[in-house]
Formats: sequence, structure tokens, C-alpha cells
Amino acid sequence: MSDTVFHKIMRGDLPADILYQDDLVVAFRDISPAAPSHVLIVPRKDLPSVSDVTEDDRMLVGHMVLVARNLATSLEIEGEGYRLVFNCGENGGQVVPQLHLHLLGGRKMSWPPG
Ligand code: 5GP
Repeated sequence: MSDTVFHKIMRGDLPADILYQDDLVVAFRDISPAAPSHVLIVPRKDLPSVSDVTEDDRMLVGHMVLVARNLATSLEIEGEGYRLVFNCGENGGQVVPQLHLHLLGGRKMSWPPG
């Protein structure tokens, strides 16, 4: 099993502000938020990045998006809009090698990203 900071959080070895969890994913606040609301949705399954996702993971990735949408509703950022981001690999800015979806909201986002 991989041993990233996210695995440590999922095992309970590192503290985190967990907002939601189920059999498939854990969602917690980013330790260094890039927006007033910044949540990471992380699958329990070992998957380093989007590049490792296979057909078998269709349901899991769809579930991650729905969990993010539901969190946007509960955090009351849905009405004003929000951003969902998968960083992938070095050029994508991925730092933690476990798949995760960023939910960002609570401020106006710029485009294109830097
Ligand atoms: P990435 O750049 O890999 O897409 O995003 C990793 C995210 O994980 C970053 O936004 C970073 O702030 C967050 N992060 C890194 N270490 C920790 C940690 O120990 N706890 C929490 N809650 N977030 C973390």
C-alpha cells in the first residue's frame, strides 16, 4: 500500500478536518487552502494519479465528482460557482502521488490558471 500523507490521513495517523467519508472516498480540508473553501476528495483505493485510472474506476471517479458537488452544496458555494481540479504529474502541478480532486470555492477564480 502507498504511504502518502493522504494515506496517513485515511488511516487516522495524521489529523485532518474530515468533512465526508464513505467506503470509497475521504474528503477533508486542504491544509494550505487556495480559496476560502478548499476540500480534497481522495479515493481509498491506491491510485497515484489520473494517468493510473482505468475503465474499472469509472464509477469511482464519477463518485468523486458527485461527492464534490454535494460538498459544494453543503458548504453553500454552489450558487456562486466553484472549481474542480485534478492536477496530474509534474507539469500539472501534482505534489501528492495519490489521486485527489480539489474543490475550490468562495472567491472568483481566474482563467487561465498560472
Ligand atoms: P496537488 O498539488 O498534489 O494537486 O495537491 C496536494 C494538496 O495537498 C495541496 O493543496 C496541499 O496543500 C495539500 N496537502 C499537502 N499535505 C497535506 C496534509 O498533510 N494535510 C492536508 N489536509 N492537506 C495537505
